[in-house]
Amino acid sequence: MKQTVSATGYHSHTLNTIRSWCVLAMLVLPVQAIFAKAELNVVASVPDLADMAKCIGGSAVSVVSLATGREDLHAVPARPAFLPKLNKADILLTLGLDAEHAWLPPLADEARNPKIRENGPGWIDCYEGITLLDIPERLDRSEGEQHPLGNPHYNIGPQCGTVMAANIEKALAAALPQQARSFAANGDAYRKEITALTKELQVQGKPLDGITIIEYHPDMSYLCAFYHLSIAGSIEPKAGVPPTAAHLKELEQLGREHGVRLIIYNQAQNPKLPEKLARSLGCSAVRIANAVGAQKGITSWTDLQRYNLKQLLGGLTGGAR
Ligand SMILES: [Zn+2]
Repeated sequence: MKQTVSATGYHSHTLNTIRSWCVLAMLVLPVQAIFAKAELNVVASVPDLADMAKCIGGSAVSVVSLATGREDLHAVPARPAFLPKLNKADILLTLGLDAEHAWLPPLADEARNPKIRENGPGWIDCYEGITLLDIPERLDRSEGEQHPLGNPHYNIGPQCGTVMAANIEKALAAALPQQARSFAANGDAYRKEITALTKELQVQGKPLDGITIIEYHPDMSYLCAFYHLSIAGSIEPKAGVPPTAAHLKELEQLGREHGVRLIIYNQAQNPKLPEKLARSLGCSAVRIANAVGAQKGITSWTDLQRYNLKQLLGGLTGGAR
């Protein structure tokens, strides 16, 4: 079906489909089928934020994630079941920085819940306080640029976990002040767990120090900063923009010049291009997870960090798939 893109970047067909689901979905799905009984209903755009909200919120909150974690985070397919969840949400946790720009704001608009619309009191971006990387000199969405406000893939950076958790604790406490002490106690314990994990990852990740990589989508900046990996280039010339043959040729040349050891892609991307490039350069293509839920067994944010390190180290020794 032909789609047109509005000035905000949303597809007209997507909006019409969402509207046609709206009434039906809210009539059919009862509230108790969406949220377990709790004092606060939390919807997260991605499972990473849902996992953190569960760790900090405990039994006072009921949390659901819209994305499963297997998708491209910029292009999560909208489903009718999203609308009643958003309709009953007290707060909506998002990565922000326009990571969910193509799919979440139109859903939040159509969910008949002014609290969680973009810029509403319950729409919570979780990046505040994170040292943002790759901030462009000017905002430009031409050619489908998906990172117009800076790199939004901070969820895969181990160094970002404590800040994300603090932002979620703050949002839960503001929405449910009578549980603020409980959230603070859970938040403290959870941040200690993250800090201990971070130290463990730093020690185990030492072999990655100084290695140069090529990424598929520009989503590796925070992970690479943590492990002191250098990025020679990206298969996508700009976030969300498919490569031309000339770009791939140039990238291969760059890869040779920099002695690239790993080509890194994620579960939502086609492995063909990274594997071909890795063969040409005589190095490994490594598939990481870009979110909790991306692979079976990655059920928490701490799992995600351990999994990605295992994949990266496996790539150095030729064992990662
Ligand atoms: Zn991206």
